[in-house]
Amino acid sequence: MSAARRRHEVAVIGGGFGGTLVAMCLASQGRSVVVLERGRHPRFAIGESTTPLANLVLKGLCERYGLDELLPLCKYGTWKATYPELRCGPKRGFSFFAHEPGSDFGPRNDHKNELFVAANASEAAGDTQWLREDLDAFFATAARARGVSVLEGVEVTGVRRENGWTLETIGPEGTRQIQADFVIDASGGLGPLKDALGLEDHADDLATQSHAVFSHFEGVRPWGAIYEESGGSLAGSPFPPDAAALHHILEEGWMWALAFDHGVTSVGAVLTGAPTGASPDRTWRELLARYPSVAAQMADARPTRPLTGTALLQRRLRPSAGNDWGLLPAAAYFIDPLLSPGNAHTLYGVERLARALSVGLGAPDLAEALKAYDDSLQNEVDLLDMLIHGCQAAFCNFELMTAFSLYYFTGAIWSEVRREEGKAGPDDGFLNAHDERFRGLVQAAYGELIRLVGAGAPSAKAVSAFTARVRKDIQPYDLAGLGDPTKLNRYPYV
Ligand SMILES: Cc1cc2nc3c(=O)[nH]c(=O)nc-3n(C[C@H](O)[C@H](O)[C@H](O)COP(=O)(O)OP(=O)(O)OC[C@H]3O[C@@H](n4cnc5c(N)ncnc54)[C@H](O)[C@@H]3O)c2cc1C
Repeated sequence: MSAARRRHEVAVIGGGFGGTLVAMCLASQGRSVVVLERGRHPRFAIGESTTPLANLVLKGLCERYGLDELLPLCKYGTWKATYPELRCGPKRGFSFFAHEPGSDFGPRNDHKNELFVAANASEAAGDTQWLREDLDAFFATAARARGVSVLEGVEVTGVRRENGWTLETIGPEGTRQIQADFVIDASGGLGPLKDALGLEDHADDLATQSHAVFSHFEGVRPWGAIYEESGGSLAGSPFPPDAAALHHILEEGWMWALAFDHGVTSVGAVLTGAPTGASPDRTWRELLARYPSVAAQMADARPTRPLTGTALLQRRLRPSAGNDWGLLPAAAYFIDPLLSPGNAHTLYGVERLARALSVGLGAPDLAEALKAYDDSLQNEVDLLDMLIHGCQAAFCNFELMTAFSLYYFTGAIWSEVRREEGKAGPDDGFLNAHDERFRGLVQAAYGELIRLVGAGAPSAKAVSAFTARVRKDIQPYDLAGLGDPTKLNRYPYV
């Protein structure tokens, strides 16, 4: 086994899109960067649905760091026109459908068991479902072309801090030691920095508890067809329900369906609480057996890879940065994929870390910038946990869930519009989390929601009072007419 030594200014552990993107931003600042990826591209990865905020931040990074080849990926239309070989799907917004066990889904004229929130004005201007296999491989190639040393098949097995950082790796050339002044953990999980720094997992601080079962499938029927066969009309819906992050809300959790253009759909279920010990196949079969309309959508579906079952998804390391290290968001925490915050938050993390490091390694301002990075991230994790857990707690009453979810959509659209207008930058909180007043409103409503569902089935009067409270709370921030009851849960893009 060889034991070559190399020194870089920055070493990035993990070559998913987050790791290679932060590496490209730093390389464009003139830094020498190595990315260490234990897998080999192209490789399967979950985490596919993007949002307007994700694409706006990506666009901002492209412009700031001159990453011109990535710019077309910020909108569905330019992606398809420029890189038709990179597989993706169109995403026009979020769609939700509430199911009852043992019953077919029954569309209602008042749309009270569905929710559409548009994210963009047209398919061309739309967001994308990333086929991560293709996107991550593209980013790795782009990073190499920009002078980043991207080493694949190289796992970081240990990290030591002595006169800078020493990373122990194992790969095709045997064991190696790589040295760096600064380390970024982009491993998307509890990576090797955790032990090196003695960080503890504070997952117990999070209220959300869930696990997931998922795969990619061929032959998934469009939900829109099943909806219309059941007597529903999509005539007034702001976008087709399948060109979306489609959510089925169930008693025991929720399911996603993200359709790609090449006939494959990412489908998964997130179930509340810890795994039962049943195999992923059995969990899947039992779930579909309880929800006939979802089963109809999946009747001819064939998985293209075995179902993956996860342990409890939640984790939280704190702090997320120190004077010479930083964790990208997916290495610092995970809550639950409900509302698709992960990729957007990862992009915020890339943007903030790259800006922090632009002051110079070892510069006095760097420590302060990294402290600010951690403060923002922790605030945002707390807000997200309330938003996600509140929705999860309200799965038993879709009207309540719909009302509470509007805090998420309001915060997301507020942040997005302010960024678009040049009024907000990386220091402004993800989902408006830095706004104490907004956070306070969410916190108080979350407390009330948990009290309501904890006291048994909430009465119609209580649900309507809660909905009125949400409408009043969001009013000063509502840039999309989310408080308008005449929209009947179908919110167009404005
Ligand atoms: C079930 C599920 C569904 C999700 N759905 C969505 C969604 O729809 N939308 C969304 O926005 N987000 C979603 N997410 C979150 C999303 O997956 C993450 O935000 C995103 O993958 C983070 O990207 P990343 O590059 O930081 O990490 P990752 O994509 O996890 O990449 C980390 C890389 O590090 C490598 N690595 C790990 N350890 C080592 C090591 N020791 N040495 C070398 N390499 C290492 C891994 O091989 C991997 O390639 C989902 C997450 C889960 C779990």
